[in-house]
This record gives sequence, C-alpha cells and structure tokens, in this order.
Amino acid sequence: MVIVQQVIHYFLHFIFPLGIALFFFRKKWKKTYLVFLLTMLVDIDHLLANPVFSACRCSIGFHALHSYPAIVIYIFMLGHPKLMLIAIGLLMHMATDYIDCLFINFNCK
Ligand SMILES: [Zn+2]
Repeated sequence: MVIVQQVIHYFLHFIFPLGIALFFFRKKWKKTYLVFLLTMLVDIDHLLANPVFSACRCSIGFHALHSYPAIVIYIFMLGHPKLMLIAIGLLMHMATDYIDCLFINFNCK
C-alpha cells in the first residue's frame, strides 16, 4: 500500500500540476508549472514540527500552512488574479496531502 501511496503522491505533486498547466494555461504553461512547483515551498512549515517528518502524521490540520484557516485563505486567493496561480498550486498541494492522510489510516494501524 505504501508504494501505491507514493506513486499517487508524486503523480499528484508533479505530473498532475503539469497537466493542469498544459491544459488550462497552454500559452504560458512553463511559468504556470514553475509557480505550481514553487508552491511546494509551503512544506517549509514542516521545519517547525518535531520530528520534521513523520510518515504517520497527517499534514492537513497539523502544520501552520496546512491548517484549515490557511486553506480558507488559499480559497480566497483564487479570486485575486495575481494570486490565483499560487492559490491553485497550494490547493492542489493540500488535496495531495489530504489524500496521503487517507492512506495513513491504512498504513499506520
Ligand atoms: Zn505539504
């Protein structure tokens, strides 16, 4: 199950955003994909946690930038043209991490 989780995780973190960039932002897909990749920096909040990485911990609702209030802010950012791409990237990231949390229920009992 861990392998399935990791394949889905990296697919959603790297390939799926590329598909979104190519399909919906065809004329500037490279810049769009770069913005999506840069939203990975949101994981910097893991550095505040101890331990930094824990396979059986759900990021969503635990780390500051993965908290529900933060996610609400990302949703509001969708409405601002200059922040929209960042918001899409962040929300895809949160969805990916949330799917990981579903696997944690299988892997960590
Ligand atoms: Zn994350």
